[in-house]
Amino acid sequence: MDTKQSGKEVLDVAIVGGGVSGLYSGWRLLTDGGLKRGSVQLFESSGRLGGRLLSVTPPDMPQARIELGGMRFTTGQETVKALVDYLQLPTVDFSVGEANNVAYLRGKHLRTGDLTDPDKIPYVLTDDERANIKDGFTVLAAQRFLQKVLGVDHVDLKTVDWEKLARSGRYEGTLLRDLAMRYVYNRSVSHEAFQYAEDTSGYDSIYFTWNAADGFPWNLSDYGATIEYKRLVEGYESLPLTIAHRYTEAGGITHLKHRLVRFDKTRLPDGKDGIELHIEHDGHEQVMLARKLVLAMPRRSLELIEQSGAVLAPEHHEVHRLIQSVVPIPLFKLALCYRTRWWEKLGITQGQSVTDLPIRQCYYWPVGDDTEAGAILIYDDGLDLDYWAGLRDNPVKFTNQGHAPSSEGLPADEWNDHPAPQLMVDEAHRLLLQMHGLQDHSDLRPYAAAYRDWGDDPFGGGANFWPQHVESYDVGHRIIHPVSNVPVYICGEAYSHAQGWVEGALATAEEMLQSHLGLKPPPYLQAAPVDSSPDSTTKVK
Ligand SMILES: Cc1cc2nc3c(=O)[nH]c(=O)nc-3n(C[C@H](O)[C@H](O)[C@H](O)COP(=O)(O)OP(=O)(O)OC[C@H]3O[C@@H](n4cnc5c(N)ncnc54)[C@H](O)[C@@H]3O)c2cc1C
Repeated sequence: MDTKQSGKEVLDVAIVGGGVSGLYSGWRLLTDGGLKRGSVQLFESSGRLGGRLLSVTPPDMPQARIELGGMRFTTGQETVKALVDYLQLPTVDFSVGEANNVAYLRGKHLRTGDLTDPDKIPYVLTDDERANIKDGFTVLAAQRFLQKVLGVDHVDLKTVDWEKLARSGRYEGTLLRDLAMRYVYNRSVSHEAFQYAEDTSGYDSIYFTWNAADGFPWNLSDYGATIEYKRLVEGYESLPLTIAHRYTEAGGITHLKHRLVRFDKTRLPDGKDGIELHIEHDGHEQVMLARKLVLAMPRRSLELIEQSGAVLAPEHHEVHRLIQSVVPIPLFKLALCYRTRWWEKLGITQGQSVTDLPIRQCYYWPVGDDTEAGAILIYDDGLDLDYWAGLRDNPVKFTNQGHAPSSEGLPADEWNDHPAPQLMVDEAHRLLLQMHGLQDHSDLRPYAAAYRDWGDDPFGGGANFWPQHVESYDVGHRIIHPVSNVPVYICGEAYSHAQGWVEGALATAEEMLQSHLGLKPPPYLQAAPVDSSPDSTTKVK
């Protein structure tokens, strides 16, 4: 590969990563950071912006925006909500638990509304658990273990100082953060109650991987609050794309298909410290100079950059300890489109259904009122992924029928960019029918499918969780500026306290912008979501 030096231009800030946190940082730096037009440039390795927000339109459903990545936010997520309001992006309610939806568990066909009736569910619960089933067992487990940790008879989960517990809380003498969430959960309620909670959640990662100090608050983040789920009418991708538009209007420059290969500290032509970036584009490597570098990307992406230089060289053990402090959670989405919405005959129109079969959860996706067709979005994560491994690797892809949209500004090949393995479609369809109690029939077969596996590089997973033996608040602050005398900053969902959410990506970007790059909170955030504890300014020596 030949290397080109791209003149003597020195950028004020080079941002690497065109997901929501990178675009947001660029826009904020240009609009509120006093940087001049053209002095902030963003480099994205793929051919599109948005990262893990990816909204696609299937053939013959021109109004539908199906989310192959992030799909919803809650009204309790301050930064996202404020930003969506500020940008005036249209939203609609996002339906989850409809009473009529399916819960197919342990071979029993139930409706979601049955799940709070202990006599109907196929789980053997204790009397206490039966009495508490409406609140959910994560609440019960948390109340019980916190009574032990805090030495009190009653715990109000709304007032728990989780950060303090993550730093120093102990369960039977062991630091909470050194214990698996699953262990503490199972010590606090019966295994049947735990299994019920896991099976009915539809997820296979959210009670695993975590340490107890970070996993419980993440799972209880909505506890006691009156929140609603919302989605963006134009797809969640419209958030980063709108920010990208504003960024460009403010003088930001974006380079697609530009991959950061390596970087190092350097002396700039004016004698000041800066960063030399080696960027690969179209088979060539070019060198850029910048006063500051923002890496807006998750753990796996950081590890794919050449491990050399003043930040990433292997001898920087502390930096690598920080980077390795989260575990990427592999997960995929598979969308199946049907000519008729056969689930409506079962009284189901929208929201989530769950099962302990390996498809685990599905959403009946809103597709607009101009079609009789319908879409089901399957979302699978964590432990169940090995079930699909051999099917996913099969090279035969499902053949889409119908016409991909080519009007209204939507790219025609968007859907076809994400072909689904035929064997996965066949198996997912079989399991869908089983969980709905239906026999297969040629009229019921899907006509289009799309698949996105976020375990693929450069993501390594769809979300990142804090495992055992990690002091997450310490890592979260330190990793933003991992080496004190090198102007390299890291932000994004991975090292946040709203992992797996856009909220986490934006909150870490705000902390970086306010605590390290000198910006004031934006007008739409009344109170800045940055941590002002002394540790937030502590740097790795
Ligand atoms: C299936 C799924 C469901 C989800 N559901 C929700 C949800 O409902 N609600 C919600 O709020 N969040 C959800 N999330 C999480 C949300 O999508 C992420 O938290 C958020 O999009 C992450 O943004 P980011 O900027 O931190 O990183 P990313 O979006 O990962 O962006 C990183 C970018 O960096 C680029 N990159 C990596 N390496 C390089 C390199 N060397 N050079 C140049 N570019 C590089 C990547 O291509 C990527 O574009 C979900 C995620 C997934 C995958």
